[in-house]
Amino acid sequence: MKILAVNCGSSTVKFQLFETSAERAERNEDRALARGMVDKVGAADSSVSFEPAGADKQTIRRPIRDHHEAVEASLATLTESGNGLLRDLSEIAGVGHRVVHGGEYYSDSVLFDDEVERRVEECVELAPLHNPHNLTGYRAVKALLPRCPNVAVFDTAFHQTIPRRAFLYALPLELYSEHKIRRYGFHGTSHRYVSQRYAQIHGAGLENLKLIACHLGNGCSMTAIDRGRSVDNTLGLTPIEGLVMGTRPGDVDPGVVLHLMSDLKMTVEEVTELLNKRSGLLGLSGETNDMRSLMQASEAGDERARLAIEIFCYRIKKYIGAYLAALNGADAILFTGGIGENAPAIRARACEALDALGVALDPGRNERARGAEAEISADGAKVKAWVIPTNEELLIARETMRCISVPGVSGVCACSKNDC
Ligand code: AMP
Repeated sequence: MKILAVNCGSSTVKFQLFETSAERAERNEDRALARGMVDKVGAADSSVSFEPAGADKQTIRRPIRDHHEAVEASLATLTESGNGLLRDLSEIAGVGHRVVHGGEYYSDSVLFDDEVERRVEECVELAPLHNPHNLTGYRAVKALLPRCPNVAVFDTAFHQTIPRRAFLYALPLELYSEHKIRRYGFHGTSHRYVSQRYAQIHGAGLENLKLIACHLGNGCSMTAIDRGRSVDNTLGLTPIEGLVMGTRPGDVDPGVVLHLMSDLKMTVEEVTELLNKRSGLLGLSGETNDMRSLMQASEAGDERARLAIEIFCYRIKKYIGAYLAALNGADAILFTGGIGENAPAIRARACEALDALGVALDPGRNERARGAEAEISADGAKVKAWVIPTNEELLIARETMRCISVPGVSGVCACSKNDC
């Protein structure tokens, strides 16, 4: 069946069309038919790009006023004459939406209906930068394909298995019971995908594995996964805690925030902006949040770039130690995300001098592993290390296929017209 995965951000709509089925997913043989993106939604220089599998990417500059128009433009690319992907939109069996925050409501993907919409709306206060756009995408698809089932796939769902000892902050307990202030964890779709893929590659059941997944991109997080269940994640109530990120600091003493507000007289808005947009690699280097550029700058002798990279890697190493303790050892550490997949020097640094804990990389394997699945650990290392490129859209498509395939829910759009 053909499934569309949609990821709506503040100014982008990314989409990917898959041909999948339970059997194909089991064999990792589901195929991406096409991918695309609407960029700079609402800006004067917005564009629509589209890339059918095996063909060149085409980008057309055209004004896209809002997310509704962006989804409309995305769907139009799939049926445009000549590309042969879809005769009409009724061939789409289901649409899966990335939803960042599902609060404590959802520990699994669900059919997107009015109740889910209401709850996602309720969680807007927990993810004000993401949930509103995820909802806008859902509403646009619902309006344009009214008879097609939609599925919500939550970033937080995978982490709902984190036990209380790891999700509660040591604050007055009422802040949790009355205000739901706790660690939720994020990037669940990515962590889940790479852990499933590792198990699949090794022909092992996830229930027999202890894994540490490192998603290192512009946003970064690590997850301790005990027999397929997330038991800890470095991100917290919001996606600021934990690892150093492109523009977010990760762990910071909350006293720093008090100091910024009381002594430096910064407003809530200013601190919010500082922590979300001006910290992390960008804040430390004073130059860029882009790891590739930082590595070049560091090699050219830029001291702040070198320091930013050192702090970034040290934080990962510290959490590897913490999660090895939380899991009482691990079968493997998995690297994914733009940095995790493509930057051998960062992986080497993060795993440096961890041999006492059973972690050791093979320099040659690590150097060769770029953007593809590969083992990077040294022979005999107790804890294996692997690069597994993430594929969140594929997981969203598989989840959508699974949810719409349950009895009583039509998996195929019943519309026979072209206006579905
Ligand atoms: P993501 O958010 O997963 O797209 O990852 C973006 C980050 O990956 C940026 O910091 C990029 O500079 C970084 N990145 C991508 N390719 C490379 C590379 N070859 N070497 C180092 N960093 C890279």
